[in-house]
Amino acid sequence: MSKPTDTIKPAVRALRAYALTPHRASVKINQNENPWGAPVRIKEETERRLAERKWSRYPDFIPVALHEALAGFGGWKADGVLAGNGSNELIQALLMVSVGKGKRVLISEPTFTLYGQIATVLDGEVISVPLNFNLEYDVESLRETITNSQPDVTIICSPNNPTGCVIADDDLRKLLGAASGLVVIDEAYHEFSDHSVVPLLNEHANLVVLRTFSKAMAMAGLRIGYLLAAPELTREIGKALLPYNLNVISQTAAEVAIELYETELRPLVQKITQERERLFSELKKLGGLAPVRSRANFMVMRSRLKPRTVFDELLERDILIRDVSSYPMLGDYFRLSVGTPEENDKLIAALGEIFNER
Ligand SMILES: *Cc1c(COP(=O)(O)O)cnc(C)c1O
Repeated sequence: MSKPTDTIKPAVRALRAYALTPHRASVKINQNENPWGAPVRIKEETERRLAERKWSRYPDFIPVALHEALAGFGGWKADGVLAGNGSNELIQALLMVSVGKGKRVLISEPTFTLYGQIATVLDGEVISVPLNFNLEYDVESLRETITNSQPDVTIICSPNNPTGCVIADDDLRKLLGAASGLVVIDEAYHEFSDHSVVPLLNEHANLVVLRTFSKAMAMAGLRIGYLLAAPELTREIGKALLPYNLNVISQTAAEVAIELYETELRPLVQKITQERERLFSELKKLGGLAPVRSRANFMVMRSRLKPRTVFDELLERDILIRDVSSYPMLGDYFRLSVGTPEENDKLIAALGEIFNER
């Protein structure tokens, strides 16, 4: 007897779905979001522009104004920009046009699970190089793997989710030099590290940079991402996008956020990075907790207590974190994102209770 699911690729059936538990808490630090909502001035200006526009009309076929704004904002050329319905859509489009049977995708783990997941759905082979024991990129090992197996796509998340490590430009140059395939840098958190590899786009035609409005830009609910690469590449990757992938509301909000970034968003980003350093030094003082330095708006920490226990104990105190203990190398770790100063105070007090009581 055949079942309907027999038609599903075996590699897909073997995957565990990428999903998040539906817990709720008033201190929500499980998804690396900006803890403040989008600034009121950005919302009001977006609403004003939307009220003037006919909702009955399709967006422009190519969102030229947005691409130009993103180009100016990102420091790249407009014909080398693609906007997407979240950067996840762009990683999917990039892999759709480059990965199939017999193609190899190199990642370094632990990292964002979506890369391996999409590559697997597309019949690609995923090659994984572990981070080193300091949870940083093992550049020598990555370079060797690139040289020996010449992956079609290499994906590096920098700062890395969930560990917060960054790949240095010189190290990235080594990988780019060794690679004949594409090298993708996911810069979802670059604002918090004060660093970007965009200048390297000028030297390397196989480099692709992914960015998002879901984290520092405080717009995860609007699903906006963008990709920067050589125009020859964006032309090809764009073929896998659906027409009108980005709705008018999100396009408009993105344009406004770019215009008001310096006054409305940059101060929030600065506050978050300050708070990250405060959290790190406060949590380091607790016995049984070893936070890992991070260049993003989150950090992982090794825990003497089971991560699941810490998750439950914090949830009882109305704080929601991420248990990352199922990731490779992170069996004893949990992750939390940096909240508002008040939220961080609550977190520090709660972890103090949990870790000093035992
Ligand atoms: C949050 C995150 C993104 C953002 O994805 P969107 O689809 O833009 O919301 C991308 N990459 C990584 C590694 C992330 O953690």
